[in-house]
Amino acid sequence: MPEGPEMYRVARAVARAVANQPLREVWFAFPHLQRRAGALLNQRVVEVRTLGKALLLHLSDGSVIYTHNQLYGRWLFSAPDRRPETGRQLRLALSTQQRSALLYSASTIELIDAEQVRSHPFLLRAGLDILSSNVDPAAIAEWLREPRFARRQLGHLLLDQSFLAGVGNYLRSEILYLAGLHPSQRLIDLDAAKIAALASAAHELMWRSVETGGVTNDAARTAALKAAGWRRSDYRHFVFGREGQACFECDQPIVRETVAGRRLYRCPLHQPEPAA
Ligand SMILES: [Zn+2]
Repeated sequence: MPEGPEMYRVARAVARAVANQPLREVWFAFPHLQRRAGALLNQRVVEVRTLGKALLLHLSDGSVIYTHNQLYGRWLFSAPDRRPETGRQLRLALSTQQRSALLYSASTIELIDAEQVRSHPFLLRAGLDILSSNVDPAAIAEWLREPRFARRQLGHLLLDQSFLAGVGNYLRSEILYLAGLHPSQRLIDLDAAKIAALASAAHELMWRSVETGGVTNDAARTAALKAAGWRRSDYRHFVFGREGQACFECDQPIVRETVAGRRLYRCPLHQPEPAA
């Protein structure tokens, strides 16, 4: 399952391919949408925005194509007169004179107007999207102080898309590690310094993951390990997927637990269980 940073990279690629040029082709696999495709010809994609794992393409006439990739959805790009070789089923094609952006195998595609964007159930539920909203750590810390989040354990809260949209399973472990927090801790138990540490860890790791294509470990350490011949899977994360291996900072073996039904990794020294 792609997490927020992966979707944000996809959004940038879609924008690079087809934004700000008149659409010469708009094609939907679903007949109820295809009936409306003609009206979108010669409109332009003016913005491509993520909301967690959803992608919103804003068109110049005010309409919005909403897609949610679920597990298998995949965007591919090509020259407008060609189609990539793939066994996948095409669901949506947007082409300008220069380029096509093609969505395959997605489960959800909707065509909505600005009014429906405001009342869309998924969009109403979605929490703060750190990437698309471009908020700074101080604004994230404000969001963390919302009373409705205060009493839930961080290990659960961080997977809830109404909290920080786009945080998935690897980011949950990595953010908690960088902030030095145990998954059983709750926001109400944290002092201002720890709230700030959590906000800045979320900000830093989401953006780092966008820039590196999913590597959350320190840039300097990553470069050194790469030069020493380490494989990407071994240097990619601080703790995620590293059960039994030594913490990069303190040499303690990383432990694996199940929290909210999914695997979570942490360093027992950096993220101790809080005193009762
Ligand atoms: Zn450690």
